[in-house]
Amino acid sequence: MVMGITLYDGKGSADIITGVMNLGRQIEQYLPQQVLELVRDISGQAAKQKQRVYLVGGAVRDLLLGYPNFDLDLVVEGDAVRLAEQVAETGQAKLLAHHRFGTAKLRYENFTLDLATARKETYARPGALPAVTPGTLKDDLIRRDFSINAMAISLAANDYGELVDPYQGESDLERRLIRILHPESFSDDATRILRAVRYEQRLCFELEAQTDELLKRDIPMLDTISGDRIRHELELIFKEKQPEFIINRLAELKVLPRISLFLKGDGWIVEKFDKARRLKKPTQLPSLYFCLLIYSFGETGIEQFLARLNIPAKLSRAMRDTLRLKTRLPLLDKSPLKPSEIYYLLREYEPLAIQANAIASDSSIVHRHFRLYLTKLRYLRTSLDGEELKRLGISAGPEMGKILQILHKAKLDGEVKTKADEKKLALSLKSA
Ligand code: ATP
Ligand code: MG
Repeated sequence: MVMGITLYDGKGSADIITGVMNLGRQIEQYLPQQVLELVRDISGQAAKQKQRVYLVGGAVRDLLLGYPNFDLDLVVEGDAVRLAEQVAETGQAKLLAHHRFGTAKLRYENFTLDLATARKETYARPGALPAVTPGTLKDDLIRRDFSINAMAISLAANDYGELVDPYQGESDLERRLIRILHPESFSDDATRILRAVRYEQRLCFELEAQTDELLKRDIPMLDTISGDRIRHELELIFKEKQPEFIINRLAELKVLPRISLFLKGDGWIVEKFDKARRLKKPTQLPSLYFCLLIYSFGETGIEQFLARLNIPAKLSRAMRDTLRLKTRLPLLDKSPLKPSEIYYLLREYEPLAIQANAIASDSSIVHRHFRLYLTKLRYLRTSLDGEELKRLGISAGPEMGKILQILHKAKLDGEVKTKADEKKLALSLKSA
């Protein structure tokens, strides 16, 4: 166990009792009262069946760092699903159980708790999903990605608050290091390469020397990872506060070209991602980042990238549209353009692709045209519909289609304003 200086810089300081760090008081201060009572109750119920419950992973790391994180993961030495079923019966939680994986989610009104049976993992081959069997807490910790994520805090009554830290995670937090637990870690699961850089940049840590060396050695192992898993890691990167620095660091480490030869990290990405954040709600940001990430791609690059990452249809459309629209920007960089001209130039593109191009372009004329389209033109409808045109004696079919189109264009260009104007124009267009 680690002794000496403690890291916790929240309220109070960690107690070190006979070489074992006890964080009982820190948990009490860290977790909201309601969560705390629940976690204690779960641990109490487990104890009756001689099972032990631990807080693990990110929440332990963040508690020690004094950062908020209420995304709580509990590991049960025993049977997490059965325990969660019991807790759900007595409490107001909704249960989502995965018997096959020995995991369960308890959903309360304003937070969720994840419970997992302590497990042992073995990798049949690099990149494959591991074979899983029940195990001890220690087995469960060694299968984890980095020492700082491989700590646990006991929630059992007899040693409540005790830090379990077999891989010196606390010392690595202090030294600000990202360190893997064994030399084959990156080759077993190369998504850890992307995770390592994500934590390094998020926490302003460094890669420990051997971890750095092995990360570089195992970059080719990214080829063993499915598109879905790589995309998921990119999505996690895009949920970080400043993903551009993670992208640039991945470029510097030469990780990016292993995913796509055309991917770049540079000052452009820094500037444009920052601009995207100022324009877009967090929920829509990841998709916009994807469109900006591929902005310098050509046709071959984009198709390879979409296939490699198995990008879903809607996002694929937005990414392809981003590049198609980029080639048409010169047409939009002219003034004056009639509103209807702007509309016809832009209507075939996904709004996300237009936003990506708005961020990419430095032309104020292009910006003005995009803004007009996105905020007004794309919503404009004629006041008259087909039914009303019929009442004016215009029969359904090609003629009506043509008239509706002319009315719409006139409306876009402000040539008709009221319904009466539209009626007048429609009647003037009606064939005798
Ligand atoms: P975050 O703040 O990013 O959510 P976290 O530590 O909670 O950090 P999760 O992705 O939620 O990260 O995963 C929970 C825990 O599962 C991690 O702390 C880590 O111990 C473990 N873990 C996640 N992904 C892997 C992986 N690819 N290999 C090994 N362990 C992993
Ligand atoms: Mg988490």
